[in-house]
Amino acid sequence: CGIAALATTGETKKQTVRILLEALRSLEYRGYDSAGLAVYDEDEGRIKVWKRKGKVETLVRLLRGVRISAPIGIAHTRWATHGVPNEVNAHPHLDCRGEIAVVHNGIISNYLELKKELIEKGHVFKSETDTEVFAHLFEEEMKSKEPFEAFKSAISKLEGYYAIVAITSKDPERVFFARKESPLIVGKGSDLNMVSSDIASLLRYCSKVAPIEDGEVGWLTWREIYVEKNGERVAVGERFFRPPW
Ligand code: GLU
Repeated sequence: CGIAALATTGETKKQTVRILLEALRSLEYRGYDSAGLAVYDEDEGRIKVWKRKGKVETLVRLLRGVRISAPIGIAHTRWATHGVPNEVNAHPHLDCRGEIAVVHNGIISNYLELKKELIEKGHVFKSETDTEVFAHLFEEEMKSKEPFEAFKSAISKLEGYYAIVAITSKDPERVFFARKESPLIVGKGSDLNMVSSDIASLLRYCSKVAPIEDGEVGWLTWREIYVEKNGERVAVGERFFRPPW
């Protein structure tokens, strides 16, 4: 599958949906049984989600005429591994309150165990995917921690492999990400930063890119990209390069 996400500011906030759809189009080769997108709508002060079974074009049609100013957003094309391809199983997945949205590439191999524990704690699941457990795990951790600590703590409970990107309406300027085995690249633009499954989807808006490595977790805002590994800050700034084309 493919993941794309961004954080932006100023007038570009009105372009968030369009930029994410463009990125999804270029990621479609990675898997395309369904597609979806979530943004933080700053006028309404909440996360909004659109998803559809089928090609990215179906999602593009669904969003035609939608005008939203969004500082952050995440998007996904799915290649189903757990749960049939349908609208409910399409990403992004939400927590119980719709305050967290998550996209994921990979497989969470201990999801049944985690799901059972979360159901015992009162979480209600909507989909059959492995991915949805992460939205609820993150929600659970947010009850006692600030967002990045909660995100890291939720990530530490996962087994399997993943590129995961998440947003929360409690922190509407930051996009959180983590990588284990599935590809993930960050990109810097003039008034935005992005994270995606491949370089091609970043080139139009980002002049410099850097790969995220296995075991790294981080976040980005429109002006900053922060990365950590085993609790230590990573000098990701040194890793950036200008793609040669
Ligand atoms: N395992 C997840 C699912 O089936 C993600 C699949 C993917 O990488 O697209 O929903």
